[in-house]
Amino acid sequence: MNTNLCVELALINQKTTPLIKKLVYDTTLEIDLNNLVENYRYFKSLVKPSTKMMVMVKAFSYGLGTYEIAQELEKEGVNYLGVANIMEGIEIRKAGVNTPIMVMNPEAKSFDLMIEYNLTPVIFSIKNLTLFASEVEKNGSQKPYPIHIKIDTGMHRLGVSEQNLALFIEQLKSLEEFLKVESVFSHLASTDEPDHDSFTHQQAALFEQLSSRFLEAFSYNIDRHLLNTNGIIRFNQYNYNMVRLGIGLYGVCAEEEAQSKLKTVSSLKTKISHLQNVAENEPIGYNRKGKLAYPSKIATIPMGYADGFNRLLSNGKWEVLVNNKKAAVVGNISMDMAMIDVTNIACEEGDVVTVFGKQNTISAMAKKINTIPYELFTIISPRVKRIFYKTN
Ligand SMILES: *Cc1c(COP(=O)(O)O)cnc(C)c1O
Repeated sequence: MNTNLCVELALINQKTTPLIKKLVYDTTLEIDLNNLVENYRYFKSLVKPSTKMMVMVKAFSYGLGTYEIAQELEKEGVNYLGVANIMEGIEIRKAGVNTPIMVMNPEAKSFDLMIEYNLTPVIFSIKNLTLFASEVEKNGSQKPYPIHIKIDTGMHRLGVSEQNLALFIEQLKSLEEFLKVESVFSHLASTDEPDHDSFTHQQAALFEQLSSRFLEAFSYNIDRHLLNTNGIIRFNQYNYNMVRLGIGLYGVCAEEEAQSKLKTVSSLKTKISHLQNVAENEPIGYNRKGKLAYPSKIATIPMGYADGFNRLLSNGKWEVLVNNKKAAVVGNISMDMAMIDVTNIACEEGDVVTVFGKQNTISAMAKKINTIPYELFTIISPRVKRIFYKTN
């Protein structure tokens, strides 16, 4: 590893908190940008060479960083970035990223900022269509402003419905002077559960039909896209001119074979802050929930549920790694700390503890507590220092 570059990247990250520049963090989320780029290239290799890549960096790149991943992806030449709201888009623009950014839930009251920061809205209602067009008109731009249209094909979250489509297109045609459709897309509800595959094909068929009406209504080129990560893996026949890659970039997918090809991008790490010997049957932690039937060696780690170490992982539900050995959580995870059983592990205060990483994966962790890796990534709190690594 090129340590110089790694320190430099860590410093870029610390610019956000200049006052504590010198602080060395015990609890960190390490992000391997080389592996991230390899995952990106893997997914790119799965689609047609002409299919554009949109990468979802919403929720601060699934909790991994503010703009660092967007910067890295821009260097890699991704076609689009996708964020949830205007604020997320602005953070990325302020970091100097010029790649087109699609905003999925644009706040109508901030449409002016949308234009100021050159962000592209997703429009899914006639109301927002007219509001946005008048903002463009007010702005006095010379050419029509690009927009993305979301249509509902069965998920019933956001999107123009089939019933409203004719009216929507009619409105859109009347606003051609101000708006230009860059893409039409829809979202599949369950690309990762084979039980719903026939529904997925049904959604795809409806998408083909509804999106075609936009292509017929306008003479210029309009991109179409439907697939997320598991869609790219399992329904690649629908990759159209663009796909929207999310969780796969961050090293996770639902399909075993593809998962085995992905590289681990993030590892959540901390250090042992305290070691003690505890007699058998002594209570450990809040509400005396931890009790071991043998004389034990217990390590305290400075990471709790306020850091994103979900409390449901308490009492042996999860095992962290200490010097490559598994150590079970003992007792209840508290807000800022947790205890782990290191009775049979040679270790010292200051030794690194991996809460999740290459060997104890975030997917396994999610399964233990009946949730999904997406949630566990995005609940890692801002208090955990993100450190980006990159070798040449
Ligand atoms: C988040 C999101 C994606 C990416 O989904 P992954 O499962 O993370 O690949 C794609 N499209 C839309 C509309 C999304 O909201």
